[in-house]
Amino acid sequence: MTCAEAERLVPAYLNNEIPQEKLEEFILHVKSCPSCYDELETYFTIYLAIQYLDDDKYSSYNMKKLLEEDLHRKEAGIRKRRRLHYCFGGTVLLSEMILLGIFFWVSAPEMLEDIWNWITMMPGV
Ligand SMILES: [Zn+2]
Repeated sequence: MTCAEAERLVPAYLNNEIPQEKLEEFILHVKSCPSCYDELETYFTIYLAIQYLDDDKYSSYNMKKLLEEDLHRKEAGIRKRRRLHYCFGGTVLLSEMILLGIFFWVSAPEMLEDIWNWITMMPGV
């Protein structure tokens, strides 16, 4: 991601409107690019100041800490979604293997035996 692209995404980040597929890229860029980090921090401070005027739920003025927390929370969200995705993929694969096993077991038990022998004869098994 380029600096220009990251800067363009700052308002979307602050409003939680950044597309999921861009969020990780954005966070990675901001964390490794001091210039974009400063830019984000500035906007974040202004954004929180406006929020603070609207209601006083932000009792802390430690903007750097609040930004760190916000980045961290959004990163954790990405990881959680990814875990769910892998978990789902793994479940589907496992059910397919079980179904395939049942299919062979029912239709051709001797073939299953051949496959089993083939697997156990593989080096390293
Ligand atoms: Zn940058």
